[in-house]
Amino acid sequence: MTSPDPETKMQFLFALRSRGVTDSRVLEAMEQIDRGPFVRGIFSERAYEDTPLPIACGQTISQPSVVGLMTQALQVSPRDTVLEVGTGSGYQAAILAKLARRVYTIDRHARLVREARMIFDALQLPNVTSLVGDGSFGLPDQAPFDRIIVTAAAEDPPGPLLAQLKPGGIMVVPVGQSDTVQTLIRVRKSEDGLDYDELRPVRFVPLLEGLGKEA
Ligand code: SAM
Repeated sequence: MTSPDPETKMQFLFALRSRGVTDSRVLEAMEQIDRGPFVRGIFSERAYEDTPLPIACGQTISQPSVVGLMTQALQVSPRDTVLEVGTGSGYQAAILAKLARRVYTIDRHARLVREARMIFDALQLPNVTSLVGDGSFGLPDQAPFDRIIVTAAAEDPPGPLLAQLKPGGIMVVPVGQSDTVQTLIRVRKSEDGLDYDELRPVRFVPLLEGLGKEA
């Protein structure tokens, strides 16, 4: 897998910083994981632009600065077990793999999971487990999680995911209708209940709840 030239990489990291990604661990992880391998075909030459791009199955790889801001909001520590709902290209999961002890990532589309898995193998990220399924139900067999990140927009934070978050845990999820601007929400779970923070406006493809998986 080829890396971008140093000038392109410098501009990429500059764009992240200028859009508010300031956490040094997150920036370091994003410096280590090149976006190029996760973008295919005619869009690959735009891999280092700060823009969302189309991937297979009618889905998108998110804008890098939004990936950085969501990762930063998740406050991942090296001891954490993280669940990502919405593998897509695998880019977000690969960055999380540099920050957490273990990452589970799930997507409805078998093709996306298959392709992402090949990149995780090539990048030697043995702490990522990728699965096909409806992530709106979470992963009861592996729960509870220290951190949960949802990379598709839900109408409300899904109940099963809130239930699978540990006390002290954090979930980051875009909330709102799929055809409008949504709000990125951070949920903190404590022994006393749930606290919600509204972080910023975002635009994501919908989290399709209760529809099962697709080939
Ligand atoms: N995190 C991805 C990346 O780094 O490329 C981008 C995710 S893309 C914006 C949203 C993904 O959520 C799509 O791949 C879509 O198939 C997936 N998705 C939507 N509803 C889902 C569900 N209920 N369960 C699992 N995945 C779902």
